[in-house]
Amino acid sequence: MNTVVRYFKSLMLLELFAGLSVTMRYFFRPKFTIRYPEEKTPKSNRFRGLHALRRYPNGEERCIACKLCEAVCPALAITIESTQRDDGTRRTTRYDIDLFKCIYCGFCEESCPVDSIVETGFLEYHMENASERIVDKQQLLAIGDRFEAQIAADREQDAAYR
Ligand code: SF4
Ligand code: SF4
Repeated sequence: MNTVVRYFKSLMLLELFAGLSVTMRYFFRPKFTIRYPEEKTPKSNRFRGLHALRRYPNGEERCIACKLCEAVCPALAITIESTQRDDGTRRTTRYDIDLFKCIYCGFCEESCPVDSIVETGFLEYHMENASERIVDKQQLLAIGDRFEAQIAADREQDAAYR
């Protein structure tokens, strides 16, 4: 009996019309989707995206190679090597972040005493091969230079909330 009912239902295209009725019902309703990338959804200024190393306004890198971020990172994603400069200050000779290991917890940012390593709001990045997952010091500084205005503005907004 069920087979006969199913046969007549398919013959009359009932399932097709049921599907079309759902389409028509949603056709004139407000859309849930947006036209990305022209349109973007709102994002918190505390969103944790791609990492960056910041500089002071005079161009000097902030990082003092204390390695706190490396020690605190739960994913062991940060690798730092350092040396002492002629003026007695310590600076990194290597600062790598493995983006495949990183879990974007923000601990590195929290631990940094000089506000050097930060996570920007930038999320539109990709890799085309696995070796690109390692972001080195020069790349991190370049990201910092590119987003410094936004990072500073987010910091000011955060301070205003406190
Ligand atoms: S965000 Fe977390 S997991 Fe990623 S590098 Fe920083 S401390 Fe490590
Ligand atoms: S980024 Fe900050 S926490 Fe990490 S080594 Fe440099 S100064 Fe220390």
